[in-house]
Amino acid sequence: MKLALQKKTKIVATISDYKCDVEFLQNLYETGMNVVRINTAHQTPASSMKIVENVRKVSTKIGLLVDTKGPEIRTTAMASNAGFEIATGDTIKMLGDPNALSHREALYVNYAGFVGDVPLGAAVLIDDGDVQLKVVDKKTDFLLCKAQNSGTLRGRKTVNVPGAAIHLPSLSSRDVEYIGWAVDNNIDFIAHSFVRTKDDVLAVQKLLNERKSRIKIIAKIENRQGVENIDEILDCSYGIMVARGDLGVEVEFEEIPGIQKMLIEKCQACGKPVIIATQMLHSMIERPRPTRAEITDVANAIYQRTDAIMLSGETASGAYPVEAVRAMSKIAIAVEKDLQPYERQPNVGIQDKVAIVLSKSAVQASRELPIRALVTDTYSGHVPRYLAAFRGKIPVFALCYLDYLTRELSLSYGVYCYPATPIKNNDEFLRYAMRFLRDQGCISNSDMVAVMAGNCYSKGATTYLEIGVVQNLISELNQEAYYAL
Ligand code: PEP
Repeated sequence: MKLALQKKTKIVATISDYKCDVEFLQNLYETGMNVVRINTAHQTPASSMKIVENVRKVSTKIGLLVDTKGPEIRTTAMASNAGFEIATGDTIKMLGDPNALSHREALYVNYAGFVGDVPLGAAVLIDDGDVQLKVVDKKTDFLLCKAQNSGTLRGRKTVNVPGAAIHLPSLSSRDVEYIGWAVDNNIDFIAHSFVRTKDDVLAVQKLLNERKSRIKIIAKIENRQGVENIDEILDCSYGIMVARGDLGVEVEFEEIPGIQKMLIEKCQACGKPVIIATQMLHSMIERPRPTRAEITDVANAIYQRTDAIMLSGETASGAYPVEAVRAMSKIAIAVEKDLQPYERQPNVGIQDKVAIVLSKSAVQASRELPIRALVTDTYSGHVPRYLAAFRGKIPVFALCYLDYLTRELSLSYGVYCYPATPIKNNDEFLRYAMRFLRDQGCISNSDMVAVMAGNCYSKGATTYLEIGVVQNLISELNQEAYYAL
């Protein structure tokens, strides 16, 4: 079986237009990449087009995720990519002007209100906290900061001011433009940055509703407000990303593991996908093998039962992108062998109770019987997501009646999708599903499988769970022989 199909944890890989040729993407896909992330902080809609076109040449099952900037502050571009070196104690002048180029004499950020919002004495953390400055003087239109450590200041790097009330709107004009582009180009997910309350999610949803778009919103949790308001944020999001880069500078870094664990548990409790992001295999940007600590970090996220893990610079600009995806896949396969399914039932709403109970029974049955695969068909993606929420030990094969579902489910643990056309007769559906999945190499004649589907009078709802051996489910002769008795 291909490496990509042996693991259940999904892999999100960030791709840039500098390296997005079809052969490269094909390699990543075969090694285990399920979703491509486009980071709008480093792309334009025009450059993103090349990524989208090439991803689609590789497979229509790869989910496409556009990561907005949200109410995020970054340094503005610099004339030189190399940036400039600073030493501890150096004085840096900081100003807010999205249109100005940064240089040694003046470090600009993309938010005009920056000087007004940042108090005297505040810590200003740049590039995920690699460089720390302290505000030592505040004038009407600039701040004077002292470097607390040596480092390099570069263009378009993150700027965090922990604890400061930043009055940026939910969406920048660039976000609005990018979301419009995402709708036009049939993108699957918008990961919205710096979600602080449900209002930030609702602002994106409003734009999507205006365009009648089915795009799903992933709320990026990356500051204390987002953590504190997680329940209301989850209520109106499709899933979340634990964006540890910014989170690690917005809260004390020792709080990250506990927050990560809490957020994964919250998502499981409501059956929504969760992505753990940032610096998972950071050293692989330059080296072919991960550090022991990175291997353990990836493993721990999987032990905590995340749906997906993410690569950023490792695949966007690193020297060993394929090796990084392969390392994640190998760690996932090894860890997943140790894991047992959940018994807790996710709280996903009254109307889905039958499907939830059947999903739980199917996953439970796979612990007591030699079942090799869970099979279902779907118009909405609900049942595959419920099955994923129980984190079974065997794969979920979902026959999807709407093409986009094969990508929408690309974030869900253990779910593998195939496009299909609906079949009205129950027996014919079973036979078709078995033959189809057998031809795809997913199951074989002697395998026992559990099938969840709806009878033909149930108007799309899931009503039954059938457990049997593939060749018996396929065989019309057996049925005729049975009726002749
Ligand atoms: C993060 O902060 O961890 C993150 C994923 O967001 P970005 O890469 O946009 O900073």
